[in-house]
Amino acid sequence: MSGPADILAPRQRPVLAGFALSNVLLAFDYDGTLAPIAPTPAEARMRPTTARLLARVSQRYPCVVISGRALADITQHVQEIPLWYVFGNHGFEPARPDAPTGRTADWLRTLREELPAQPGILIEDKTHTLTIHYRAAPDREQAADIIERAVQSLDGARIIGVRVAASGEDHDLHARVVIAADGRHSKLAIGMGLAEYARRPKRWAFGAYFAGLQGLTTHGEMHVRPDGYIGVAPLAGEIANVCVVRELKNVFRAQRMNAESMIGHVVRQDPVLRERFSSARQISEVTSLGPLAVECRAAGYPGLLLAGDAAGFVDPMTGDGLRFALRGGELAAEAALRELATGAAACVSLEAARAKEFRAKWRLNRGLRALASSPRSVAFAASLSKQWQAPVRTLVRLAGDVSLVQHAAS
Ligand SMILES: Cc1cc2nc3c(=O)[nH]c(=O)nc-3n(C[C@H](O)[C@H](O)[C@H](O)COP(=O)(O)OP(=O)(O)OC[C@H]3O[C@@H](n4cnc5c(N)ncnc54)[C@H](O)[C@@H]3O)c2cc1C
Repeated sequence: MSGPADILAPRQRPVLAGFALSNVLLAFDYDGTLAPIAPTPAEARMRPTTARLLARVSQRYPCVVISGRALADITQHVQEIPLWYVFGNHGFEPARPDAPTGRTADWLRTLREELPAQPGILIEDKTHTLTIHYRAAPDREQAADIIERAVQSLDGARIIGVRVAASGEDHDLHARVVIAADGRHSKLAIGMGLAEYARRPKRWAFGAYFAGLQGLTTHGEMHVRPDGYIGVAPLAGEIANVCVVRELKNVFRAQRMNAESMIGHVVRQDPVLRERFSSARQISEVTSLGPLAVECRAAGYPGLLLAGDAAGFVDPMTGDGLRFALRGGELAAEAALRELATGAAACVSLEAARAKEFRAKWRLNRGLRALASSPRSVAFAASLSKQWQAPVRTLVRLAGDVSLVQHAAS
């Protein structure tokens, strides 16, 4: 199917003819539509042929131009054309008499102070909005990072949507509230500086499916060892998902691991598991991912709310991720409704709601993670549990949210 991008292509003539016979309004953007993109806004000009065609079509149909440029600026570029209306500032101009003013002047002052005088970064003051151009910057990615950081510090700044790359094209999706639920490696949370990989521990997970594993029950298993842990999750058809988690100092170590053979190697060395794996077959490739832990310093930003792993990830050890993701999604949805109803940023109240709901479990998970990363503590806990099982049972009940499950079932 053809997209809107090629509506003016010759093969679309029948579609355009259909429109032309109807009561049609033609609305054009300027930069990138009527005029080719140029290194600076001042250099972007309509080609003479485009101007002639636009003038002709404007005589037959009501035509408007809606541009992101200031009204005075865009008007200069199209003043020879008999257009019906011209709108500037993405439709904000001509502005209503009661339109708010003043904030952009403050922002301009701050940005001029915050943005280092970098070649290729240009701030355009359009009275009602500001545009920061960085097309001509020598390192565009670095320029975008610098700009994003500076913009985040502006009083009253907010997220107004996301840019999505699809089929080789970028599309801007505008939204009054964006919920980022794009997982541990959230582009939105990490890109906005809200989340980062934890400095310690740097753990990687290696997982694969196995058939023929003996002694499977309906329970998931977690085998904590001095150098990491091994999770075994029974699935339908007597298949098990086996996951080995190891602390590795950095990504280079992780790349040097022979992922394909590492699970087999670990379980065959393990005194408790080797018997059970003696006739087991690995029936999938090994998937590896890490570092696992992601720390989040806020649950969002005005216009942006985080949910699921995008809002932070402690460790898969206690198997909480799905509950945090589902309940965190509900809390983000409630926060989004609050933000839509009031217009006030709900990221702080979302953070409070998440803390209230999850704080106790986060603490327990962090404690367990610390315990599991200390070989001495693991050895001590193992010998203690042989003589005194009650604390271990309590810990397992807490880690497995048994009371929540019982409450849901009752
Ligand atoms: C090894 C391991 C074992 C685990 N075991 C358990 C367990 O036993 N029990 C449990 O409850 N939890 C477990 N978890 C955690 C659980 O898997 C996650 O917490 C849960 O899946 C989080 O859900 P999510 O929707 O936030 O993220 P994800 O499940 O990661 O989903 C994010 C989605 O966003 C998509 N996405 C990412 N970027 C973009 C983008 N730019 N544009 C569009 N889409 C994008 C991804 O493709 C993905 O589909 C485990 C995790 C790991 C790593």
